[in-house]
Amino acid sequence: MMAVPFRRTSKMKKRLRRTHFKLRVPGMVECPNCGEMKLAHRVCKVCGTYKGKDVVNK
Ligand SMILES: [Zn+2]
Repeated sequence: MMAVPFRRTSKMKKRLRRTHFKLRVPGMVECPNCGEMKLAHRVCKVCGTYKGKDVVNK
């Protein structure tokens, strides 16, 4: 899209474009171990695993 003066973009066009924004929280994935939503590339705080390994000593 070209840069356009903001008054040139109708309210409807602007709202339609923003309907796609923030529908999904970025960086959230389903834990392969317990199925809970967790932050990507982080240890799952529900079951304490990362990449299939139990990294939290309980
Ligand atoms: Zn988990």
